[in-house]
Amino acid sequence: MTTPDTFSASAASLTQFDPQALPVSAAQAIVLEWVTPLAQSERVPLRDALARVLATDVISPIDVPAHDNSAMDGYAFDGAALAQQAGALTLSVVGKAFAGHPFMGAVSAGGCVRIMTGAPMPAGCDTVVPQERVTVQPAETAGDDTITFPADALAPGANRRRQGEDLARGGVALRAGRVLRASDIGLMASLGLVDVKVKRRLRVAYFSTGDELRSPGQPLDAGCIYDSNRYTLGAMLRRLDVEPIDLGRVRDDPEALAATLIQAAESADVVLTSGGVSVGEADFTRTQLQALGDVSFWGLAMRPGRPLAFGRIWSGGRPGAGRAALLFGLPGNPVATMVSFYQIVRPALIAMSGATPQPVPLIPARCDAPIRKRAGRTEFQRGVAERDARGQWRVTPTGSQSSGALSTMSEANCFIVLAHEAADLDAGDTVDVMLFDGLV
Ligand code: AMP
Ligand code: MG
Repeated sequence: MTTPDTFSASAASLTQFDPQALPVSAAQAIVLEWVTPLAQSERVPLRDALARVLATDVISPIDVPAHDNSAMDGYAFDGAALAQQAGALTLSVVGKAFAGHPFMGAVSAGGCVRIMTGAPMPAGCDTVVPQERVTVQPAETAGDDTITFPADALAPGANRRRQGEDLARGGVALRAGRVLRASDIGLMASLGLVDVKVKRRLRVAYFSTGDELRSPGQPLDAGCIYDSNRYTLGAMLRRLDVEPIDLGRVRDDPEALAATLIQAAESADVVLTSGGVSVGEADFTRTQLQALGDVSFWGLAMRPGRPLAFGRIWSGGRPGAGRAALLFGLPGNPVATMVSFYQIVRPALIAMSGATPQPVPLIPARCDAPIRKRAGRTEFQRGVAERDARGQWRVTPTGSQSSGALSTMSEANCFIVLAHEAADLDAGDTVDVMLFDGLV
């Protein structure tokens, strides 16, 4: 597919879709088509690299482990002795090898070295007999201790870790695009690296719109509500390890909106707004976005979260003038804001950060209650999933599925993902769940 020049054209070019009933998968695909991964990178010390996006492949400068070493506390010897001996094998202990203190001497036939886990294998030794398998006979007066163990209890090469078996020198230890996890930080430390090249953080500006909004800490005037979206958005952005820029709460006033959008385009790579993208009379967000940028207004075939604006705005106040920033206009209802963020914005921010997108796992679960569902839209219901005594995943929808009820998001531990084409479900049917928390 060739990339159209404008977002409005982009949506219109998908003639097989009605932009007012755009399937979630189509919206995700269009958004990703418009995303350009960040080019800039920076070096950060390993301890600051957690959750950052790797900018280049990490090549191992050394073999890990750096030498053959013992996997057990025991005695190292030449495994060839095993084949020469039926029954019990007796060896004399000619020295010691501890981690960090290798045995530098020679081990001749009939000899062995007391060795601790991680200690380098002495020259001429390739096998370790664990200490609990041997009987030790202390030396009588002068001379060495001896050990005896059944020769058939072990194969040559047993309990030895090979040089480079974890990572070979010159090999790719970690690939560019990886979002660094605790194990990766440790792995780079095990290579002796002190810093790492990562993509710079994506800057994401966000603000709420609406005359009815008050900030926490202010008195709640008649007919007003507290602005929760700015807090949810800020928290979700922090989880993605982007740089959040909170531009506050903006009144439903064209000039205030224009000023904030321009400020956002000046300072950020991506701008998120909440509220004002449906067709309410006091909502000036749509008109301002149309004036300042190139923005499509979609109706997604999704619940919650139907209205969504997507496009670009420019800091110069008109298309093509100044800096461009990608724009997502999210619906105002608190759960719709979150669902739109997770399903549409999150994959885009990940791709733009330069990370290789990883699909979020879906787990099949038995649904405990019937669900009313209209075919032709994707639904993200809130549910509580757990594994039952037989190891089967089950999920119970939270009571209310209202797009304004943030409490159901707190109560839930997963989305129940009901596919575009799915219709009503009976209790006991299998559904896909997307867990909120994973181990990272
Ligand atoms: P709108 O799309 O602006 O018409 O907003 C839809 C609904 O979401 C309205 O009930 C708004 O009051 C509510 N809403 C909009 N923005 C926020 C916000 N930042 N925090 C909480 N609720 C909001
Ligand atoms: Mg509004």
